Parts: sequence; C-alpha cells; structure tokens
Amino acid sequence: MKLTFDIEKMYRQIRMDGMSPSSLLSTELWWNGPVWLSQDATEWCIRKSSMEQEIPEARGTATSATIQQETPETFNRYSTLNKLIQVQAYILRFIHNSRPDKCKRRGDLSTIEIDAATHSLVKMVQASAFSSELRQLLNHQSLPRSSKLLPLTPFLDEQQILRVGGRLQRANLPYSARHQMLLPSNHPFTKLLIENEHSRLLHLGSQTTLASIRQKFWPLNGRNIVRLTIRKCIKCFRSNPSVIQPIMGNLPRARVQVSRPFAHVGVDFCGPFYLRESKRRNSKTNKSYVAIFVCLATLLTTDEMLTLLIQIESILNSRPITVLSNDPNDLTYLSPGHFLIGDVFTDVPEPTLLNIQDSRLSRWQRVDQMRKRWSKDYLHQLQQRTKWRIEDINVTPGNMVLIKEDNTLPLHWPLGRVLEVHPGDDGIVRTATIKTSKGIFKRSANRLSLFPMEQ
Ligand SMILES: [Zn+2]
Repeated sequence: MKLTFDIEKMYRQIRMDGMSPSSLLSTELWWNGPVWLSQDATEWCIRKSSMEQEIPEARGTATSATIQQETPETFNRYSTLNKLIQVQAYILRFIHNSRPDKCKRRGDLSTIEIDAATHSLVKMVQASAFSSELRQLLNHQSLPRSSKLLPLTPFLDEQQILRVGGRLQRANLPYSARHQMLLPSNHPFTKLLIENEHSRLLHLGSQTTLASIRQKFWPLNGRNIVRLTIRKCIKCFRSNPSVIQPIMGNLPRARVQVSRPFAHVGVDFCGPFYLRESKRRNSKTNKSYVAIFVCLATLLTTDEMLTLLIQIESILNSRPITVLSNDPNDLTYLSPGHFLIGDVFTDVPEPTLLNIQDSRLSRWQRVDQMRKRWSKDYLHQLQQRTKWRIEDINVTPGNMVLIKEDNTLPLHWPLGRVLEVHPGDDGIVRTATIKTSKGIFKRSANRLSLFPMEQ
C-alpha cells in the first residue's frame, strides 16, 4: 500500500468548477493542494492504489522454487527418469520466466536447466528421506551415532545438497564422483535412476550399473537395491528366464511297495536306429526303435531286440541300485539282476545248485534275504529328495508365463496365461493348463517361467 496524490483528480475538480486561468492563480487548491495534505500524516485518508487492489480470482504469487514437503506421488507419476527431470525443468523455467526482471528462457531445455532440475529433485528426495540429518548439518551439529549416513561423513554443499564426504578427497576424480549426492534406497527416484542407468548401459549387470550410478549419486544399500531392481527388468528376464522347479514329489505306490518284477512298468523309446535287413550289399535299411521297459519297483531294464542291446541290458541290470556299503566284509551289492536270476548278469555263471537237495530251501532264503535288503537299502534311499529340495513358487490361475521350448532361444518362447493348475496331494503344482496364441496346452511346471511382476 502506498499514498497516492491524485493530481489528475485535482485538475478535474478545477475544470468542473469552470475556473479561468486568472482565477486559478488565487485558488488555494492550485497552490497548496487538497486540505488534508496540510494535516498530520496520521489524519490522511489512505487507500490502496488501483494496481495493488486484490483481484478475487487472482492466485497469490508463490515464487518459492524449492518445495520442501514434496510427497512421493510426484515421483510415482512418471515412468522414466528423463520425463521426471524434463517436467521439473519446465516447472523451473516457468517460475524463472514469471519473474519480471529476468531474461526469458525459450526453446529446448539446456544442460544447465536439466542439471538444475536434477538438483532440485535430489533436494526434494533428501528433504523427505534425511530430514533430521539435514536439520543437524544446517545447525552445524554432528550426526547421531545411530545415523546410517555416519560412515559416509556427509556434508552440505553450497546448494544445500547432501553429499558423501568420504575419503577420496585426494583422488584424481571429478567432484561429482568424489562427493556423490546421497539418495535413500527405497525412494521412487532411486528406482527410476537405476532403471534409467541399466537401460542406458544396454541391460548390463548390477555391478556395472551401480558403478555407473556412483559417478554422481550414492544410493544407500546400493548393491541390494540395484540387484533387486534389475531382477524385475522384463527385458533381462525375457533373455534369461528361470523356470519353476517344484519340490521333488512323493513316490507313487507302485515304486515303494513290494511287488513282482514287471508288475508295474514304465515304457520309454529311444532311436531311431537304422538297421540293415541283411548282410548283403545294398540291402534295405529300416528305422528301428528300442523300447525300454522299466520295472517301477526295481528300475529293471529289459528288451528283446538285438544281441547288442541284450548285452547293454545285462550291464544296465547289473549296475548297483543302492550305494555300495562301506563295510569291508560286504563284498556284494544289490542290482536289478538279483531280482531275476539272483545275481548280476555280468558275472561268470555259477554251477546250478538245483540238483542239491537243500538248494530249493536256500534259494528261497536268498530271495527272502533279497527282499529284506531291498526294503533296507533301496527303499530308504528313496526317502531322500536327492534334488529339487526347496519349494519354489506355485503358479496360480491368471499368471503370465513363458513356456520353455527345447532348442529355441528364450526370446522366442511363447507367452501364455495359466488357465488351471493341477496340484498334487502335497499341494504342489507340477502341471498346469496354459492358454497361448496357438491353443490350450497342458505343461509341466518345470517348463514354465513366471514373469517377475507375478512373483
Ligand atoms: Zn534389463
């Protein structure tokens, strides 16, 4: 507010009164001004100038560029660091251009403006995350022993940004790499910064990403936060997906109960092998496959194709099915052959004992002994989960997955959505029905790779 002496009003008054120039000379108003002017200043009628009168719609001029109590919503609003910095830079430019005495900034953002925007964002982050440390440093107090910033000996630079003091003062490094700007580990700004740097370095690993970030910034708990952020990177996941590995399941009844050999079998095929019809020249060649019948109780292998395969079979059936014992007096081991002929196939044949009167009895005793050994050695060995011991994540309907395909690059693995899961009696999902662009398939869980955002 200021006092205005309205000359124009005085002229208007004189003109309206119809005064001639000669009479004006004798007019008190002309020579001495309005009567109130000769009175004491406290008596003056003071009104606001028209320029300073309040306009109801006008907003108060808020010219403070640094907002101290910024909520993280500002940082959550943008998906990339560059966008966040550019928006901040345009806000700062608007504030600058709103000041009447400043030269206006126009055109593309300059590097100075980008730097200023970055610094102002860092100040906001620090104000929300390290408010007590900032207050203490502003009051020239030392930080408390409990402060997690203490090992970094932080200090405030001339822009009031919290920087790492550290021990590299004498290192031949740029100022920003010696005294990095401090950042909290769990702030959206830090996350955007890590994602930006990881993507700028063409998806390099956590070590390189962190080293690059530390040229300017020092995120607390950096190693972990960088590793966690990169683990969620979809591009990295697509190029190196990890499949689900459910815990090893319980054995089916057929494998753990005593039964006759080949009462329960599993069948597998191998091949094709190309076999000639005869030994003569130009004889026809046929494709042949080997059927392997595996006895589920003894894991015994047999087939009836060729002499060679029979030889292989005998070797397979002579392999020990239990771990060899450490007892120096125990010279034998249990093999599938024991269940068929009572000995290993690869041994030299023993003379028959059938002619001997007691042989039948002793043979049954041996069978009985074998059964006991099967229960004691083999069955207990199955008790252990030799692999896939840790429970992995269970897929659930609606999950987005990659379906592993052999001999195909992970980037070409088809995408799918889990329609249905088929958990076992232990509640672990080992099979799931997946919908892909090519149709609906049933796949085992260890062919599926769960996207990081689903984990
Ligand atoms: Zn990546």
